[in-house]
Amino acid sequence: MKIRKCTCGEDILLDDQMYYFLSGNPIAHSGGALCVTLNGKQINIARLVACIPNGLLPDHIDRNIHNNLASNIRTSTYSQNAANVSRRSSNKSGYIGVTYREDGRTHWQMTFTCGTFSACKRYPTAESAAARDLLAKTHFGAFAKLNFPEVS
Ligand SMILES: [Zn+2]
Repeated sequence: MKIRKCTCGEDILLDDQMYYFLSGNPIAHSGGALCVTLNGKQINIARLVACIPNGLLPDHIDRNIHNNLASNIRTSTYSQNAANVSRRSSNKSGYIGVTYREDGRTHWQMTFTCGTFSACKRYPTAESAAARDLLAKTHFGAFAKLNFPEVS
């Protein structure tokens, strides 16, 4: 493994062969991805590392776009890629896919969407997070980012 400094200051992790292949070529953030300029074209590094075909996306297993080791990148559909997300910074419930509402009748609400499938249910407690995990595991398998990974 080799490390190259990103323009943002983070370390970019690359396998040795990819490190040498990209050496001398500029790397920059573009549209939420890290891209390298090769022959005048910007190419997503993760797509290059894992040879991802058009119509599919590279998914960083650890959700760190600076970790471009081949072992950290897998081929995903758009919905699988979207399933591997962290809790939003604006989330106040502390759980992925769960909101805590105080609109007269305080409750926890779980929402889950996968393609055309959508579920929304109210719970009296944080059981919403476990219910959301169950749906995420069923629909996305290993791509699902879970609230309680130790239970799966
Ligand atoms: Zn960066």
